[in-house]
Amino acid sequence: MNERFQGTKVLLEESEIPTHWYNIQADMATLPPPPLSPATGQPVTPDELGRIFPPGLLAQEMTRERWIEIPPEVRQVYQLWRPTPLYRARRLEQILDTPAEIWFKYEGVSPAGSHKLNTALAQAYYNKEAGVRRLVTETGAGQWGSALAIASQMFGLSCTVYMVKVSYQQKPYRRILMESYGAQVFASPTDTTQAGRTVLAKDPESQGSLGIAISEAVEVAATRQDTNYALGSVLNHVLLHQTVIGLEAKRQMEKVDRYPDVVIASCGGGSNFGGIAFPFVADKLTQGRKLEVLAVEPAACPTLTRGRWAYDYGDTVGLTPMLQMYTLGHDFMPPSIHAGGLRYHGDSPLVSQLYHDGVIGARAYPQRAVFEAGLTFARAEGILPAPESAHAIRAAIDVALEAKAQGQRKVILFNLSGHGHFDLAAYAEFLEGRLADDTLDEAALAQHLAALPNVGGR
Ligand SMILES: *Cc1c(COP(=O)(O)O)cnc(C)c1O
Repeated sequence: MNERFQGTKVLLEESEIPTHWYNIQADMATLPPPPLSPATGQPVTPDELGRIFPPGLLAQEMTRERWIEIPPEVRQVYQLWRPTPLYRARRLEQILDTPAEIWFKYEGVSPAGSHKLNTALAQAYYNKEAGVRRLVTETGAGQWGSALAIASQMFGLSCTVYMVKVSYQQKPYRRILMESYGAQVFASPTDTTQAGRTVLAKDPESQGSLGIAISEAVEVAATRQDTNYALGSVLNHVLLHQTVIGLEAKRQMEKVDRYPDVVIASCGGGSNFGGIAFPFVADKLTQGRKLEVLAVEPAACPTLTRGRWAYDYGDTVGLTPMLQMYTLGHDFMPPSIHAGGLRYHGDSPLVSQLYHDGVIGARAYPQRAVFEAGLTFARAEGILPAPESAHAIRAAIDVALEAKAQGQRKVILFNLSGHGHFDLAAYAEFLEGRLADDTLDEAALAQHLAALPNVGGR
């Protein structure tokens, strides 16, 4: 290992922004089985998907080509904040008194405050190219909605966001941010869609969920000619766009003569995880490189660690195609933990397949342990992490402490997916001792899993 590097951060030139995204489908021995149509139970046809996605993104969803060129128009907007810095968390290492090196890639420098803008821009671009005029989507904590609002603005599209009602009420600043970028924001469930009305008829007081908001957005996109749907995670093309993170990180680590022993990222729908991890997983798949890869999720929404690998819908009402993935059941309502971006019932089919095949691992943590790690990090490194990102920090700290116990000089890399400046109410709760650890009710989970669609050989 090169000991000469005494610095704290590794920067790249603007010209070193990757020119291509990395498609892991090229290197996987087993691909996930195809998405199934909710109408027929058969593999979805391009026609069906074409009602809500543009051709450019559909092609990326299916292709096994290894390198996909980043359109110059997208790369040019990436230049506003990319390449993002790679840091060595030296002060955190000292506090932990670990022989391990802790490195992190920081995506919170994006105008949206998280990694999500990487794909939002690409999606806006391909929709614009296809003549679409409006994008519609859902958002939980508001991270994805803000990213799509900015991206829509950059490419001259209108943007409508269905925001989970409980977040709409609890996080007014995220809503105002989206509106500042010109988006129209609704508290979901609304009475303006069939899906929303169905939910409200059953429960007029419904606080909403990501699954319900997706149902509303997909319904609007499917019924309007000029409107398409945009998803912030889960799908193959979304993970593809996020690989700019890992490709940059790999180059940055090469510059200081390092290669990680462990790559860690929080995992909601899996795009942040796939984004940093896949360019490294490539070496594991094609060169048999020894590498531990950890997806970190909330104990209250433990999709990989306690979910089932099965076909399930992406939304609550059952309008989306069924994906083969780890799932807690499409009508699973996660406890309202503060890491809103990790409260999704399913997981990316690519991440699910790699987990199923034992290529990657996963850990789940309760939220108090996560906030504790987030504050330890903030006080050491100066950056207040998003609660979602703090899950990765928790795992990185634990791996560094395990390395200390075993006297191992591991190189740890994690993705700091976003900053926590819009999550101060959550930090206040933690600081005032009001934050509780939600546990998942085993009986309720069993009930949701029993309601999985009966397809794919079940
Ligand atoms: C959305 C979000 C995540 C989770 O992202 P996925 O790609 O869905 O796994 C993690 N961190 C931050 C800051 C987020 O906004």
